Amino acid sequence: MTEKRIPLQKLHGKVAIITGAASGIGAVTARHFADHGARVVVIADVQDAKGREVAASIGSHRCTYVHCDVTDEDQVKSLVDSTVELYGQLDVMYSNAGITAASVQTVMELDLSWFDKVMAVNARGMAACVKHAARAMVGKRVRGSIVCTASCVAEWGTESATDYTISKHAVLGLVRSASVQLAARGVRVNCVSPGAVGTPMVSELFKIGEEELKDFMAAVYSGSSDDGPLMEKHVADAVLFLASEESAFITGHNLVVDGGLGTKGKSLF
Ligand code: NAD
Repeated sequence: MTEKRIPLQKLHGKVAIITGAASGIGAVTARHFADHGARVVVIADVQDAKGREVAASIGSHRCTYVHCDVTDEDQVKSLVDSTVELYGQLDVMYSNAGITAASVQTVMELDLSWFDKVMAVNARGMAACVKHAARAMVGKRVRGSIVCTASCVAEWGTESATDYTISKHAVLGLVRSASVQLAARGVRVNCVSPGAVGTPMVSELFKIGEEELKDFMAAVYSGSSDDGPLMEKHVADAVLFLASEESAFITGHNLVVDGGLGTKGKSLF
C-alpha cells in the first residue's frame, strides 16, 4: 500500500493576499506562505515603503506589494480584482490588518472617536476583505480559504482596551456568519487569535522601544509552557494550517495561539 504523502509545500501554486503585511505578524506570514510554495503573495498595506521592502526581501517572482487601505471598500475591491486579473484566481485571503486601542481605556473612559477608527479597520475593513475575497472565490469556483486575525481578547473581556476588545469580538461574528454562508460554496472561513506578540503595535500602545519590549514580552509569558514569548512565527504556522488543505474540513473555527495565556486569565490589558 502506498503511503499518502503530505506535500512539504503546503500552499504550492496558490495565490494569496495578506493585508497588514508590511509589518509584524503579516510580514512573517507572507514569507512563510512564499516558503511554502505560494505562486504569489500579494502584500496589501498603507505603509508603502515598508510593504515594498518586505515584498522585495521575499523576492519579486513570489511577492508583490499593493497599496490598500482596508477602510476604503473600493480599494479592497480593486486589490482583489487586480489580483484575480493578473494571476487568474484568488485561493487564500489572510485578512490581518489591524490597529490597536487608543490607550488602555475602560468603558467609562471610552474615546468614541477612536472607537470609530478601531472599528473601521478591525471590523469594517475585515468585513470588506471577506466580502470581496468570497465573491472572487465563489465567482471562479475556487475552493478558497479565508483567514482573519482576531485576538485572544475576542474570547474574554478585558480590564481596559475596550474599543479593541469590542472590534475583535466583531471579527468572530464575521467569521462565524461567513463560514455558515460559504461552506456549501466551497469557501472556508476561520480566524486565528494570537496572544500578545511583540510587534510595533504593542510598542506603540505601551510607548516602549525594542529592547524594553523584549523584557516586557518575557515578563508576560514568564512561567508559560513554552520556553519564551509568543512570536510572529507561531501565529504564521497557525495561519498556514488554516490556509492550506491540511485544514480542509475546518471552517468557522477560532484558533487561539497564546501559549496558555488565556487559561491563566492573563492578558496585556
Ligand atoms: P503591526 O502594527 O506590526 O501590523 C499591522 C499592520 O496593519 C501594519 O503594517 C499597518 O500598517 C497595517 N494597517 C493598519 N491599518 C491599515 C489599513 N487601514 N489598511 C491596511 N493596512 C493597515 O501589528 P501586528 O501585531 O502584526 O498586528 C497584526 C494583526 O494581529 C492585527 O489585526 C492585530 O490586531 C492582531 N493581533 C496582534 C496582537 C499582538 O499582540 N501584536 C495580538 C492579537 C492580535
